[in-house]
Amino acid sequence: MSKPVRVRFAPSPTGPLHIGGVRTALFNYLFAKKNGGTFYLRIEDTDQNRFVPGAEEYILEALEWLGIAPEETVGKNEKFGPYRQSERKHLYKQYADLLIESGNAYYAFDTAEALDAHRKQHEADGKTFIYNHHNREKLDTSLVISKEETAKRIANNEDYVIRFKTPVNETLHLQDIIRGDVKFETGLLDDKVLFKSDGMPTYHLANIVDDHLMETSHVIRGEEWLPSMPLHVMLYRAFGWDAPQFAHLPLILKPIGNGKLSKRDGDKMGFPVFPLEWKTSEGVSSGYREKGFFPETVINFLALLGWNDGTDKELFTLEELTEAFDLKRVHKSGAKFDPEKNKWFNHQYLIKKDNVVLAEEFSKNIELKNLNRYYSLIEMTKIVSLIKDRAHFVSEFWEMSDFFFIAPTSYDEKASKNWKAETPALMQELISVIEEITDFTSQNIETIVKDWMTNNEIGMGKVMQPFRLSLVGALKGPHLFDIVEVIGKQETISRLQTAIITL
Ligand code: GLU
Repeated sequence: MSKPVRVRFAPSPTGPLHIGGVRTALFNYLFAKKNGGTFYLRIEDTDQNRFVPGAEEYILEALEWLGIAPEETVGKNEKFGPYRQSERKHLYKQYADLLIESGNAYYAFDTAEALDAHRKQHEADGKTFIYNHHNREKLDTSLVISKEETAKRIANNEDYVIRFKTPVNETLHLQDIIRGDVKFETGLLDDKVLFKSDGMPTYHLANIVDDHLMETSHVIRGEEWLPSMPLHVMLYRAFGWDAPQFAHLPLILKPIGNGKLSKRDGDKMGFPVFPLEWKTSEGVSSGYREKGFFPETVINFLALLGWNDGTDKELFTLEELTEAFDLKRVHKSGAKFDPEKNKWFNHQYLIKKDNVVLAEEFSKNIELKNLNRYYSLIEMTKIVSLIKDRAHFVSEFWEMSDFFFIAPTSYDEKASKNWKAETPALMQELISVIEEITDFTSQNIETIVKDWMTNNEIGMGKVMQPFRLSLVGALKGPHLFDIVEVIGKQETISRLQTAIITL
């Protein structure tokens, strides 16, 4: 019988979460939801040297912002807790001991200097030093000294590490859900350190013990961990435990050129590689949230980095993704990151958003601008409805609509060429027409103004362009009569009068 689905995201809190890590979390989340399983978060903080304060909180905040919070983690449903490896420290030694007893691991006492000397000697001989079956019998290990001697040295507080005794000559055929059969030659692997005399396990041991104790059914993680897969499978075997199933996700590649997407690509091309802003004494790294991306956008574009549902469909809500997701449809090859496409996704979500919600956010943005004119939420909603079709972000709204709030103080030079000798008189007449309108709605204003033009045989261009120039200061913006309705009769007339005097 297959085990209940339990998957984990297991980041090391060494800094802000890279967007690739977020995708790993997302795919785990989707896989869990699709299969009625559990998604949990484990903090892999055994490497104290790389610990960064705030990183753990950052990871959780990012997942919560994206709507993919884990069901179990530090301080939340700690069914298999603790969920922080540093707090599970006491657990690991006994498992390292088990491996020693079964002959799957050994003590190594080599000092850093001794290892360095070995490395140099190998180099001088034109060889590469690998700590494995080639050398382990010639080094300072419990494989060559007696049990008593080993015990004595440990009792004397000598520094040691426990290493995995990799089989000398075995071909492993391992199954990866995404990659299929993956072949490894054990003879080429090194004997990885599992445990150190300071009492701390390394990533490899802690990861396997915890995935076992926390009943992980599937390990879904980045391709950079594929080389660790043989060791991990051999560790499960050495313990006599069932290994989880593995799926290694493809790399996320640079927008241009080759290689893995890095923070430098983002800095160079002006896009974030982190979900949330990250501040250190060295500066601020921008985040998708602060740049004005919606969480839905980030979820959507990340889902399509290395996966699709087999159709051309590009827009997926989290629910739709949960429905459609299938690990078997994840690609083997790397997925190119496309920052322009990401903006397009944000535009798609922006136009779908409720205008009131957008208006509230827009109002917040302009609260501090010290304007002479503010609008009610209903009016702001109207403004939003007029401009959002061309926006990617709420942060662009101001630039696209400032003329609703401030009368032009200058006029676009090129557009001013349309201001002819007869224009002031025409605009004066237009003012008289507008003054008479009582039902001041866009449609009605348009009908009346156009009737006036038709009845007096005035060409459209003669009125509409100078009219727009007077209200906006340039030949841009949404439908002119919508602008007229929003700014109102008084303001429309006043702007026309200013233009007549100025232009
Ligand atoms: N702690 C590892 C990391 O930082 C976890 C790798 C895994 O999922 O096994 O990515």
